[in-house]
Amino acid sequence: MAMTTKEDLFLHFLRDMFYAEKQILKALPKMAEAVDGTPLADAFREHEQETRGQVDRLKKVFELGNKEAKGVKCEAVIGLIEESEEIMEDAKDQGVLAAGLVAGAQAVEHYEIARYGTLVEWAKELGYDESIPLLEKNLQEEKNADKKLTEIALDFANKQAA
Ligand code: ZN
Ligand code: FE
Ligand code: FE
Ligand code: FE
Repeated sequence: MAMTTKEDLFLHFLRDMFYAEKQILKALPKMAEAVDGTPLADAFREHEQETRGQVDRLKKVFELGNKEAKGVKCEAVIGLIEESEEIMEDAKDQGVLAAGLVAGAQAVEHYEIARYGTLVEWAKELGYDESIPLLEKNLQEEKNADKKLTEIALDFANKQAA
């Protein structure tokens, strides 16, 4: 898609995130299954539910701009998810698997935080006033998910040290 204005760029990254969230929705249940019965699995399943709400908010942002809700391929999220898939295939120890998946999931959260941070700023610049709180809500959920993962990782580390 040719991009000549900041509006085009905003739409491009909105589509990028729409695509990314849908990929994440497919990945999270597999990641939860891999560590089933642990607090990490609960965190993945909880974030899967949140992610459904995030997709709905993105649809709302498309709607507010009178744009069709459609995604554009995000190579970054594909690559990040592939890293977690590799860990699920290769980790031969439950502790190693869990630590690897926390790291993989945090990389995804950091990508999302970067993108939503930018989208919020651009929505402000462009005067997309009704979209700002929707994007801010997604941003906040990603930050909380990241924090939760850090807590889980610290719990693991403390248990292993004990
Ligand atoms: Zn493009
Ligand atoms: Fe998300
Ligand atoms: Fe992307
Ligand atoms: Fe997320």
